[in-house]
Amino acid sequence: MKPLVAALTAALCLLAVALPAQQTAALPYTVITRDARRPLAARTMNGQEMFALDDLARLFNLTVREDASAGGLVIGAGGQTILLSTQQPLASVSGRMTSLPAAPARDGRTWYVPVDFVSRVLAPVSPTRIDLRKPSRILLVGDVRMPRVAARVEALGTLSRVTLDVAPPTAHTVAQDGSRLVVRFDADALDAADLRANTTTDLVTNIHLGDTPQSIAIDLGPRFASFRATDQPGAAGLTRIVIDLAAQTDTTPPTPTPTPTPTPTQPTQPTQPEVPPLLDLPPAGGLRTIVIDAGHGGDDAGAKGTQGTLEKNVTLAIARRLKAALEARLGTRVLLTRDGDQTIGPDQRAAVANNNKADLFISLHANASVRPNVAGAEVFYLSLEGYGEAAQRAAQAPRDALPVLGGGTRDIEVIPWELAQARYIDQSAAFARAIEGALRERVPMSPRALQQAPFRVLVGANMPAALVELGFLTNTQQEQRLLADDYQNAIVQALVEGIIRYRGAAAGGTR
Ligand SMILES: [Zn+2]
Repeated sequence: MKPLVAALTAALCLLAVALPAQQTAALPYTVITRDARRPLAARTMNGQEMFALDDLARLFNLTVREDASAGGLVIGAGGQTILLSTQQPLASVSGRMTSLPAAPARDGRTWYVPVDFVSRVLAPVSPTRIDLRKPSRILLVGDVRMPRVAARVEALGTLSRVTLDVAPPTAHTVAQDGSRLVVRFDADALDAADLRANTTTDLVTNIHLGDTPQSIAIDLGPRFASFRATDQPGAAGLTRIVIDLAAQTDTTPPTPTPTPTPTPTQPTQPTQPEVPPLLDLPPAGGLRTIVIDAGHGGDDAGAKGTQGTLEKNVTLAIARRLKAALEARLGTRVLLTRDGDQTIGPDQRAAVANNNKADLFISLHANASVRPNVAGAEVFYLSLEGYGEAAQRAAQAPRDALPVLGGGTRDIEVIPWELAQARYIDQSAAFARAIEGALRERVPMSPRALQQAPFRVLVGANMPAALVELGFLTNTQQEQRLLADDYQNAIVQALVEGIIRYRGAAAGGTR
């Protein structure tokens, strides 16, 4: 759909905290102690996520009193006294000042404080460990072993590979249990905010928390035959568990319900001796991995054609064809941000590309206009307008710096998520030009065939990236063509050629 509308829609897809709502209920946090879990209500006030101070007082045995002469709230925490200003986003603990993202806010008789109050003010003075994990909406209290687990699924020929990154390193076992693989950890609970599989295959249909808080279940497809689990060195502070799953050979008739493999006593040993090595796949001329983003999905249908065609369905159909064509022509690894009708936020789409170290990111869309005669394809790359000086600095940053969603601190060099794409604008422009040129040879183009726009989905991509509007669904003739096999194939051919041309230019050029 149109750039501005798309940018707006994209903005609305972001977390509720980004909405300018004055007071809205937010999803609760979960407080996890060694022996209990309970919800902790949160609400959004003036764009800030807040906890009720009364709730925190009950949870951490705080005393709270208002003190007009001291200019704020006096909070007793253990032996310490915290002075929290009601006018400014500041707290003082024993004379040491700490800043907060917002001042406390009052609703009736209840005071609310930013959620960061817990990590910035309470945690440093608390005798017990307090660990606020905002992305996971978890508040750990006390000595709780709760490793973070992130999952990734890849289709590698006839095999599927599940990679689990576990931080900090944690002992574990992998075993088959009926139509599931269960990974059990030596921990009290798991932080599984990043658990959702980026994709599914015919061997891995889902990944989710298991029957106990310490386990993860990998749901197996009907063609699953065997698995092999190995620990591999990951980045510092991580355990990387790599599980390769093999399918039944084609001569075996597929059974509707899988039977357990006969060697449950040796779960981490290969049940099928010959699984080809997968670690060192040859690069395809500099393009190892390409991520294709089928625009919209789930609750977000995107543009709608005059005859009812939904953008989300057109983009998925063409994304699937493009994946097959790229795998066949280039032999490169191709991942889809979605291979079904799921709702996915724009940052999550770029995250799939970043997490898989993709070399190219292409987002597919179909357009809409109030004027039914408007037609033609358009190719976009990110506009840096409005990013100013920070974008210029980011453009100079080393390429191996990582974009981090929501900021945060890590030991490696990071750049804000908003500026990840800034460093690739020149390459993205070249990529967009190559695609525009190839499309022009096969399908009708809009008078403004190559443009820049502030698409949210491109902002966080840490590699050359482009967005293609394949045509206008509001034009009856284009709507029909976009549904036709031959036209979809023409688009796919053009996109493959555009990618090959870009690869050639990048390999011989300044890259
Ligand atoms: Zn769209």
